[in-house]
Amino acid sequence: MTQAHQLSPSSPASSASSASPTGRARLMDGTGLARRILAETALRAAALTARTGTAPCLATVLVGADPASVTYVRMKRNRCREAGIASRQVELPAGTTTAELVRTLTELSDDPGVHGILLQHPMGEHIDERAAFEAIVPEKDVDGVTLGSYSAMSFGLPGFQSCTPGGIMRLLDAYDVDPAGRRAVVVGRSAILGKPVGMLLLGRDATVTYCHSRTRDLSAEVRRADIVVAAVGRPELIRGEDIKPGAVVVDAGYNPGNVGDVHFDSAVERAGLITPVPGGVGPMTIATLLEQTVTGAERRSER
Ligand code: NAP
Repeated sequence: MTQAHQLSPSSPASSASSASPTGRARLMDGTGLARRILAETALRAAALTARTGTAPCLATVLVGADPASVTYVRMKRNRCREAGIASRQVELPAGTTTAELVRTLTELSDDPGVHGILLQHPMGEHIDERAAFEAIVPEKDVDGVTLGSYSAMSFGLPGFQSCTPGGIMRLLDAYDVDPAGRRAVVVGRSAILGKPVGMLLLGRDATVTYCHSRTRDLSAEVRRADIVVAAVGRPELIRGEDIKPGAVVVDAGYNPGNVGDVHFDSAVERAGLITPVPGGVGPMTIATLLEQTVTGAERRSER
C-alpha cells in the first residue's frame, strides 16, 4: 500500500465497538487524533510560557548523520516549533564515544532549561545504547527509553511512556477499545515498542501473547487475537486471512515505501478497526513525545 487510506470522517470517540457495519474495517485516524493532542499540547505550552516566562524545551541528540534519523529529528523539531516548544539541537559526530555521549546527556539532564531529552537511535554499533539511555534522568525521559520508565510502565506507576506504545494506547482509547479480558497478540519484542506495548496492554487487563522471530506458528497465534499489534519491521508479514473477523489491528510497522507490517488490503476486509500506514500509529508517536515534554516542563515549574 503506497498511498494514504481514506479516513473515516466521524469522530473517533463516537465509536462504541470495533464491529464494522459494512464488513470492512473502520480506520483508526492517528493523524486526526494526533492533531487534536498537539493542539491541546500547544495550549498548555503557551499557558506555561505565559506563567513562567520560559517555553518548554526538548533537547534532541543526534549521533552521526544517518539520513532517516536526520529526517526524524527535523520532523520532531518542526512539530515542536508549531506547538510552541523550544528545541535544542545537539549534533555529535559519528565517531562519538559512549563516554562522550554519556557526558553530553548528563549535562542536558542537569540543565534546568531543558525539560525533555530525545536521544535519536540507532546510534552506531560502537555505542553502548543502554549506558547512553541511562544517562537521561527519569524526569526528562520524555521518549520513555530508560529502565526506570520501563519499570514504571510495567508496574502501572507514574512516569513517561515509550512514545509509540503510549500513542497506541491513546488510539485504542479514542476508539473505545477496552483491552480488558481480550486476547492481545503483540508481534515483536523490541525494548522501545513490542515489550512496552505488551506491558501497557497487560496493565489494562488484556491477555497478552508476545510473538517474535522464534515463534513457531505465527499465523495460529495471530488468528486467536482480538487485538493484534504488529511491531516487526517486515513488510506485510501479517496477512488478512490470519485476522480474526472483527479484530482490532494496530500496525506500528513502517517500512520503505510507506508499507506497514500488515497486508492492509486483505486485513481491512476482516478487521473491525485497523490503523492505516501512514496516518495511524506514526503521528501518535510524535504527539506523545511533545505532550510528555510539556508535562515534564509543567512538573518542573511546580517544584
Ligand atoms: P526491531 O527492534 O527490529 O524488532 C523487531 C521485532 O520483530 C523483534 O522482536 C523480532 O524478533 C521480531 N521479528 C522479526 N522477524 C519476525 C518474524 N518473521 N516473525 C515474528 N517476529 C519477527 O524493530 P522495532 O524498532 O521494534 O520496530 C518495528 C517496526 O516498527 C519497524 O517497522 C519500525 O520502523 C516501526 N516503528 C514505528 C514507529 C512509529 O512511530 N510508527 C516507532 C518505532 C518503530 P526477535 O526479538 O526474535 O529478533
